[in-house]
Amino acid sequence: MTDGVVTRFAPSPTGFLHIGGARTALFNWLYARAKGGRMLLRIEDTDRERSTPEAVDAIIEGLKWMGLEADGEPVSQFANGDRHRAVVEELLAKGQAYKCYASQEELAEMREKAKAEKRAPRYDGRWRDRDPSEAPSGVDPVIRLKAPLDGETIVDDQVQGRVRFNNKELDDFVLLRSDGSPTYMLAVVVDDHDMGVTHIIRGDDHLTNGARQALIYKAMGWDVPVMAHIPLIHGPDGAKLSKRHGALGIEAYRAMGYLPVALRNYLVRLGWAHGDDEIISTEDMIAWFDVSEINKGAARFDFKKLEALNG
Ligand code: GLU
Repeated sequence: MTDGVVTRFAPSPTGFLHIGGARTALFNWLYARAKGGRMLLRIEDTDRERSTPEAVDAIIEGLKWMGLEADGEPVSQFANGDRHRAVVEELLAKGQAYKCYASQEELAEMREKAKAEKRAPRYDGRWRDRDPSEAPSGVDPVIRLKAPLDGETIVDDQVQGRVRFNNKELDDFVLLRSDGSPTYMLAVVVDDHDMGVTHIIRGDDHLTNGARQALIYKAMGWDVPVMAHIPLIHGPDGAKLSKRHGALGIEAYRAMGYLPVALRNYLVRLGWAHGDDEIISTEDMIAWFDVSEINKGAARFDFKKLEALNG
């Protein structure tokens, strides 16, 4: 089915639109255009300390300049807080989530134990089946998902292929903090569902989150969107991309006189092999682009190639 594709770009507004974020937006935009669908913009502004209105403006302005405007008005994740909490109530009522009163000391002990056993820390489920009457008074609980104890969660990723996660590693993660604020994991699922998102295209640093999110979808009885986790961009030396490789915010390239078409051409090739260095028109890009052709290996940023494309 090629109809009804909905993608989204979901930046956290803590700084300017970065070259990596712009590539994610471009892939989402191209896929939506290629399928006659829509790309939505969601501002993930739940971190109130780090999110700024200036960053929101810079992201919207940067997308506009790049020619990657979203369809419809941007959605504020923070504004959906009541809906996120209502979904948690539903999960509690269905027995798919529970209140956890573990103290900071207990959680620290679990982390220490994991360290000693040389494994990733995970919550040990101590409040999973406890009677709520045992709850200590005056303590606000966090709400955790009752994740499956055994078996695997499978993500059939458009880029990474079939990825299997041992459910033991995913543990009963937190949905709602003790102050009632939703975690990223919960908010993303509820918003993607409510926005009708059919395809999630984002950096592969979110792959494990993808498996955790799939568990929330299942617990709610919702369809899991198609996922495509694209490899992060690295510098020519193989290290994580940074300013020292010439990677900057979009507005810096704009100030230097770069043309959006050159940037789009450069970014589309970061992870999507399309041979030569000639400029591809936007129409051709839309016609040729497919997420399933995105490379699995890390993309290498090369400032010289970008300069060459800018002519
Ligand atoms: N807000 C997240 C980030 O900027 C992206 C979340 C997502 O795409 O699911 O990394």
